[in-house]
Amino acid sequence: MTDANQPNLTNPRIRELCGTMEVHRRLLNESITYQERRALIDNRALAYEHETRGIARRGVLIIPVVVHVVHNPADPSQDISVTQIQNQIDILNQDFRASNPDVTQVPAVWTDRVADCNIEFQLASQDPDGNPTEGITRTPSTLQFFTTELDDVKSSATGGADPWPSDDYLNVWVCNELRDAIGRVILGYAQFPGGPPTTDGVVIANFCFGTGGTAQPPFDLGRTATHEIGHWLDLRHIWGDDRGSCSGSDLVDDTPNQADATFNNPPFPQISCNNGPNGNMFMNYMDYTDDAAMFMFTHGQSRRMDACLEGARASFLAAPAFALPAAQPTPTVATPGAIAPSQAQGDGEIVRLRHEVERLRRDYQRAESILDSIRATLDSDAAIPSGG
Ligand SMILES: [Zn+2]
Repeated sequence: MTDANQPNLTNPRIRELCGTMEVHRRLLNESITYQERRALIDNRALAYEHETRGIARRGVLIIPVVVHVVHNPADPSQDISVTQIQNQIDILNQDFRASNPDVTQVPAVWTDRVADCNIEFQLASQDPDGNPTEGITRTPSTLQFFTTELDDVKSSATGGADPWPSDDYLNVWVCNELRDAIGRVILGYAQFPGGPPTTDGVVIANFCFGTGGTAQPPFDLGRTATHEIGHWLDLRHIWGDDRGSCSGSDLVDDTPNQADATFNNPPFPQISCNNGPNGNMFMNYMDYTDDAAMFMFTHGQSRRMDACLEGARASFLAAPAFALPAAQPTPTVATPGAIAPSQAQGDGEIVRLRHEVERLRRDYQRAESILDSIRATLDSDAAIPSGG
């Protein structure tokens, strides 16, 4: 006997691990603004992918993170430890810098495609009001599970926790159980760039967050967060979400065409869509393999994330210094067109760079508001019936 409400993570036929595409399709149906923004974001990503547009940023970008732990007080284990959270941050910093120890398992035919994405993550040290924080909020909730359909973990009004400003922080919600629109238990979901700020961020079930504590095999090596933050930075699933038809694409050139998601921890190679002899790149973070079976992003994926960071998420290039710990080893700031400062250049250079990124941030906001007014004009023109 099976109970539809019980987690079933072992049968691939009824398994969906990630709810990101479902949320994406919902937003496309709900919002013309989202449709328009997604078109702009995809066009920009294509220009980076085909290298008609170069990457401006240099050095390592550090993204401030706030983790919202939503837990049921009846089960104290749900109120996960700082250690488990920090373990997750450490894993992200390995995975996005290609310094994860298991990167050595990438098949020899693809080692030259492994990318150091030059992105790191830190728990925020100051909250939106400027007060010191450990970058973690804790919210008691009696809800048994949260859903992608309602996005209910993202608001205190629906039993979750409100986000911090999504221009300045990556919001990560961790809760006990997540379900998709048809009730399947999933590991997590993200909102692609271009969506509503009030629901921006990623959500991860506590059984697949970080290491130790509530994390359970085979999802106990922190790769769900790597995958979901990949989406948050605009990466698609590696098989192109085409249900095995071989017609879809992840919009990245250096990942092979692949029929469908890969589960568990299969041997290399796995062939589909006539992609032999090397087959599917199932060890990519954007597949559905077990945590121990995924260990790489490609250069094409890194370029796509850069397109996002220099476009829809450009605010993080100018993230206010307050969100990060005060004493940072350099480089701490990645700025378009500027080399990250070396240790020897001292505080003066850092201050100059911070002024520069503030200027760029204002320019970006100005460009956004001009775009909004153009959009409004187009909308009102479209509303006037044409003569004839
Ligand atoms: Zn996904």
